[in-house]
Amino acid sequence: MVTAIGGPRVLLRQLRETMAEPLASQDRLDKIVNLIADNMRADVCSFYVLRDDGALELFATRGLKPEAVHMTTLQLGEGLVGLIAAEAEPLSLDNAPAHPAFLYKPETGEDAYLSFLGVPVLRAGQTLGVLVVQNSDRRHYGEEETEAMLTTATILAEMIATSDFDTLIKPGQDIDLRRPRMFDGLPLADGIALGKVVLHDPRVVVTNFIAEDTEAELARLEAALERMRMSINDMLDHGDMVAATDHREILETYRMFANDRGWVARLSEAIQNGLSAEAAVERVQNDTRARMLRQTDPYIRDRLHDLDDLANRLLRVLTGDGSALAKKDLPENSILVARNMGPAELLEYDRTRIRGIVLEEGASTAHVVIVARSLGLVMVGQADSIVSVSETGDDIIVDGITGKVHLRPTLDIEQSYVEKVRLTEKRQAHYATLKSKPSVTRDGIEITLLHNSGLVADMPMLEETGAAGVGLFRTELQFMIASRLPRLAEQVALYREAIRLCGDRPIVFRLLDIGGDKVVPYLRSQAEENPAMGWRSLRIGLERPGLLRTQIRALLTAADGRPMKILVPMVTEVIEFKKTRLVVDKEMDRLRRTGHPVPARLELGAMVEVPSLLFELDALMPEVDFVSIGSNDLVMFLTAADRGNARVSKHYDPIGRPRLRALRTVVEAATLHGKSLTMCGELAGKPLEALALMAIGMTKLSMGPSSIGPVKEMILGLELAPIRAAVAEALAEGAGGVPIRALLKDWVDRQKLSV
Ligand code: PEP
Ligand code: MG
Repeated sequence: MVTAIGGPRVLLRQLRETMAEPLASQDRLDKIVNLIADNMRADVCSFYVLRDDGALELFATRGLKPEAVHMTTLQLGEGLVGLIAAEAEPLSLDNAPAHPAFLYKPETGEDAYLSFLGVPVLRAGQTLGVLVVQNSDRRHYGEEETEAMLTTATILAEMIATSDFDTLIKPGQDIDLRRPRMFDGLPLADGIALGKVVLHDPRVVVTNFIAEDTEAELARLEAALERMRMSINDMLDHGDMVAATDHREILETYRMFANDRGWVARLSEAIQNGLSAEAAVERVQNDTRARMLRQTDPYIRDRLHDLDDLANRLLRVLTGDGSALAKKDLPENSILVARNMGPAELLEYDRTRIRGIVLEEGASTAHVVIVARSLGLVMVGQADSIVSVSETGDDIIVDGITGKVHLRPTLDIEQSYVEKVRLTEKRQAHYATLKSKPSVTRDGIEITLLHNSGLVADMPMLEETGAAGVGLFRTELQFMIASRLPRLAEQVALYREAIRLCGDRPIVFRLLDIGGDKVVPYLRSQAEENPAMGWRSLRIGLERPGLLRTQIRALLTAADGRPMKILVPMVTEVIEFKKTRLVVDKEMDRLRRTGHPVPARLELGAMVEVPSLLFELDALMPEVDFVSIGSNDLVMFLTAADRGNARVSKHYDPIGRPRLRALRTVVEAATLHGKSLTMCGELAGKPLEALALMAIGMTKLSMGPSSIGPVKEMILGLELAPIRAAVAEALAEGAGGVPIRALLKDWVDRQKLSV
């Protein structure tokens, strides 16, 4: 084992002094490699920097031939240094030339050295370079030396990121730190947004790297860990999570890590080596992130993500940064970047300044996506590991059409997007010309297009899209953005405003659908294993009659004598619908008794979104004035695949045969009973899926405002009757297994429709 002179603490102190000296960058680096070599008793110390073009360039050395500096390069994965950079893992060898990856570069004179220790220089999980020490005799660099080198590398990474280091970089060979990145994600909400990153859970910036007093730093770490453990226990014990199982699970994982001896030991060790408590957290976090970027097993990666989040929490405690994010004080054109986010969290932001959202997770029918669409935001999900490599303030382009996200885009990418935006605007202008055209297929079938809405902010869009009205007004959004239960008068005011903005067009108000992932912080409940199938929606309404009564009263009052349509969500059995009607009847009576005008016509409809109701349609239809299908929940329950989890939901095409057959039973029952039927799930907003619905006989489709144009364009060019017949045949009993999607695509191609 090699014994270091004075140990890593002395080295760090010397490094700090060197950083403070007024030296040119190259002199500083030369001095640093000398210090490291002396301290580690190494014959050689070399520092390689990973350039933007993927080459590792020798930037400084003590021991190799000086003429090799800035001349010798290795590709990523090439030689021992390239291997360390590619794998982001330390490598210790007592006979380096014998290693299969060893590559002899004659200009360095490297072959004379047997023992070798190299570590990656990491920042935010990205490899910036490689730091190497070598000795001519056969020695073993042990764990202690590796730790010391990693600690030194943390400081070097900081120097690269913050100093005048770029003076050393040849033009056109930027280093890796800020290189552009492209993510191939899942398009969730249409459009293109150019803006600046705002990290939803911002990283804490560590400025104080080197410990003055190790004991004091260890005590700070212990105190911070204790505070963090207490706050996690507190959150778990007091059910702060409002039945959100996901959050609970994450907290349980946090608790496990926070008490994990290995993790805590690594933190302490980094402090023992001379780092401050916060730098120690960052040092260990760097390893986690590097592992995260390499990891392909989704389960392990999720756990590494949790560990990364936990490190962030710990940094906040240590730096006293109580999440510095001012949710109302955002730059123009903010693009929120997060691992995941609930709809309520999104609604906390100043909506006028956000243009888009990028998530590492996310699936197309998750509520946060629905809310984003209703706010007209561009959104992409499944952007793998974007959080760890982006920083607040970075330039970013979100393409909600293809799912591509460009972080720190190059100028030509940016220009091509500016052009794309121009084209999109042109397309929007084209859609705007369609707004007053009747929504009728070429063979004369009228299709009513309606908006899904939930915030009055999106109601003026009705004028722009020419939609026939609002097919679904999600009343829970008002509850989600409020800090306490909205009072009767506040509810009345919102509904009145929505009715006013709708003008002569019809609007369907859906009764509160809270619970599941639509978290309302002031309505606490017990934690549940499966909140999507838990105490939510109408179930809450029927058990909390005060809540339901107040909302119905508000709706009937807001009508001011005009017609009113109310939709009941999550009906599981007909009896629940009947109970709701009783409450409505009572409120109507009350209104009459108190001399208020009652709605000229009241229609009460049921949502079909729980599979059980599919088998009671005969009993349901006579009770209802209209029905609306919620395909988001219905498909989730039919396939037993969480709508918010793309990993499972992507395997089940919502317009696959079994789902489409289920939807068709509703069409048949509604037709038989002469009841109006609408689709208000996200299926209606995608042209090809909308075609599937039309093919099984649906003629009323409600969708996010931005979908009206593309769907209408498809309708106007469509001949519907032949594809109706073809789909009917494909759905018939015993029919061959032609995938419905393929059938529709073929038809769309033949008709030259754009979907
Ligand atoms: C649905 O489930 O399809 C629906 C429209 O309701 P929500 O998305 O609000 O649950
Ligand atoms: Mg639903």
